[in-house]
Amino acid sequence: MYYGINVVLIFILGLIVGSFSNVCIYRIPRNESIIYPASHCPKCCSKIKPVDNIPLLSYILLKGRCRNCKSKISIQYPIVEFLTGLTYLIIYLIYGLSIQSLIYIILSSALIIIAFIDLNEQIVPDVISLPGIIIGLILSFFVPYITYANSSLGVVVGGGIILIIGLAGSALFKKEAMGGGDVKLAAMIGAFLGWRYIIISLFLGFFLGALAGIVLILSKIKSREDVVPFGPFIVLGSFITLLWGEKIISWYIGF
Ligand SMILES: [Zn+2]
Repeated sequence: MYYGINVVLIFILGLIVGSFSNVCIYRIPRNESIIYPASHCPKCCSKIKPVDNIPLLSYILLKGRCRNCKSKISIQYPIVEFLTGLTYLIIYLIYGLSIQSLIYIILSSALIIIAFIDLNEQIVPDVISLPGIIIGLILSFFVPYITYANSSLGVVVGGGIILIIGLAGSALFKKEAMGGGDVKLAAMIGAFLGWRYIIISLFLGFFLGALAGIVLILSKIKSREDVVPFGPFIVLGSFITLLWGEKIISWYIGF
């Protein structure tokens, strides 16, 4: 019974945080405050009433349009809210009510914000990734599931792999394949998940990124010259690893 209530509450918590993440995704690349002013329509600047600011629900009730000026609200808003809720829910189902769950939901929120900023603007914001590295390292002193050695090795291995591949890619293709933002992002994830998980995360990220690249080029949505940001795929890979890392490792060893 409690379990059922918790599942609903965790999902709702995720929706609310997701709603705030949308504010961060929009404002951080514009160097705007994420606290002030209150949410407003980017088109007509009218303030969004609390009743129109309910995650998921308001988007559906308003049929995806601003109440005041009827301009379209990006589908990204409900997607971010739902994704955050779903991620919280799965983390809770796997790790229960634990300090590990708490840290992972904070990490996943930061990563969702980074992924969508990278998708929209092709940048990984330093204001999240750099403090993220420090926080991940500091936390490893206090939590039971990762050692400081593993966390710091995660930073070096994660950042190092992307740095080396990025340098090799630039030398081979004469254009920047992966930016410094991706190096810091991988280092941050490594600080939280350790060296084994960051290797799996990056491997999955490369695999999914290559797959998506092939699909986008074959379906002519993107050409070979277009830049497809890599950050979202690192994030996706790290989500899969954070949730099912042990299963992946035991599957790989049994292979
Ligand atoms: Zn409006």
